[in-house]
Amino acid sequence: MGGSPVDWWVVYRPRFAYEGSAVATTFHSTRSTTDSLTAKQAIRKGIADDGGLFVSDQLGSTKVEIGDLAGKSYQEIARRVLGALLPDFTAEELGACIDAAYGEQWSDDRITPLKPLGDDFILELFNGPTSAFKDVALQILPRFMARTTPAGGDTDEKIMILTATSGDTGKAALAGFADAPGTAITVFYPEGKVSQVQELQMTTQTGSNVNVAAVEGNFDDAQSAVKRIFGDKELAAKLAGDSHVVLSSANSINVGRLVPQVVYYFSAYAQLLEQQVINVGDEVEFVVPTGNFGDILAGYYAKLLGLPVKHLVVASDKNNVLFDFLTTGTYNRQRPFFQTISPSMDILISSNLERMLYYLSDGDTRLIAMLMNDLKNWGTYEIPEPLLAKIRQLFGCGWADEDQVREMIADCWEKNRYVIDPHTACAYFVAQQMPHDPLTPRVILATASPYKFPRVVNESLGFDANGTDFECMDVLAHETGTTAPAALRGLETADVRFDTVVPIDGMESFVEQAAKAL
Ligand SMILES: *Cc1c(COP(=O)(O)O)cnc(C)c1O
Repeated sequence: MGGSPVDWWVVYRPRFAYEGSAVATTFHSTRSTTDSLTAKQAIRKGIADDGGLFVSDQLGSTKVEIGDLAGKSYQEIARRVLGALLPDFTAEELGACIDAAYGEQWSDDRITPLKPLGDDFILELFNGPTSAFKDVALQILPRFMARTTPAGGDTDEKIMILTATSGDTGKAALAGFADAPGTAITVFYPEGKVSQVQELQMTTQTGSNVNVAAVEGNFDDAQSAVKRIFGDKELAAKLAGDSHVVLSSANSINVGRLVPQVVYYFSAYAQLLEQQVINVGDEVEFVVPTGNFGDILAGYYAKLLGLPVKHLVVASDKNNVLFDFLTTGTYNRQRPFFQTISPSMDILISSNLERMLYYLSDGDTRLIAMLMNDLKNWGTYEIPEPLLAKIRQLFGCGWADEDQVREMIADCWEKNRYVIDPHTACAYFVAQQMPHDPLTPRVILATASPYKFPRVVNESLGFDANGTDFECMDVLAHETGTTAPAALRGLETADVRFDTVVPIDGMESFVEQAAKAL
């Protein structure tokens, strides 16, 4: 049978080992199958050594029962969904993590309430402690981390979370990890590219294990530098030897960050059942404000677990690299970067897309490694036509420019008396634009409280936007009869603890200093 042994292996190895529950769920890189990690190990490690993201080939072999979802609490649904995704956590461990993560710190006891919005529905993901959807994952990730154990047996080992943030991740990660046992956290954000409220949320964070610095560059620069730091074996050895510190990630490349987001897709479905909008088995469509592709990827995971998802619609802002990719099959990051009024979606490299490509190419690690290599070397890659066709059967796409975002904030308020933030407005716009089967309920994911972006929201609604962000919050509250989340309004008088600005090539030594100080 000719060819090298390597070719033979590639052609004939069974790509997915669906052997039922007898096989423990293991994770390996999207770019090779050599690793074999448990979920706990994958969560502790964050990213694979070859730069790939951890995936499990057992995903979808255990389905989540949906027949009796109506009436189940968020916490009950979480136990079921996370039990299927993280089988090496015991039911007791998961229960403890879930109860601590989804408790009193949420302002709505449904955690992610579903509300009617005209003919559609809105799934509010922003009722957590930092008013952004990232709380859903980052309230539980530190609890997962605390239940993992050091690989090398160093019981003094501390995990230092290292995160580059375009705004919301940083605060949500800080809030989740502040004073969490056995952990520390260092957050980098692009200087001058997040809102006043977002910046204050981070620079006022309390806790003895937290560090924050602004970076001279944009989000992609910061994220690329963080990825380089993760790949630096010399630094890793130094940190382990001198400070007993290992680095890990809280970006949505971490499995433990991604899988909690699968839960709210099931929760949305449960609420549609409860409100008698659908019957069990009916299909639903989700429109998702997208940046790093974590949120919408969780919707794909939900579908693999058995949720009847008809379409997942990627909504982008003016940085529409995903729209171009999904319409042409060519991913090209060589393009102007726009700083927009939806900063958490200002992203040119959508990291989690790699996982979607992995699953939809039936686990073709060689293809993924090649594409990601092209992206690194040339800033662009092209996927085979049949793969694009397969992706397009499930994923729709659209994007909104900044004028359209402002118009939609006004449109949604006028039509529904409901205030949306600029990220959610991208999805609202795309939903208005796309053809829609009226028999398939459509859920728009609302990813941030409008009070995180009060100036833009006021400008869009024609309210006074001349004062500080805090004056804007008061105007917004007064004009709309809504209330600012207390934690946001209180930032005005909170103490600023961090004011360091570092160049891109100073990030590594900042991390070293932070580790030494632990
Ligand atoms: C992070 C974020 C997004 C994008 O989510 P991804 O998982 O990165 O695609 C959208 N909106 C808001 C408000 C966010 O914070």
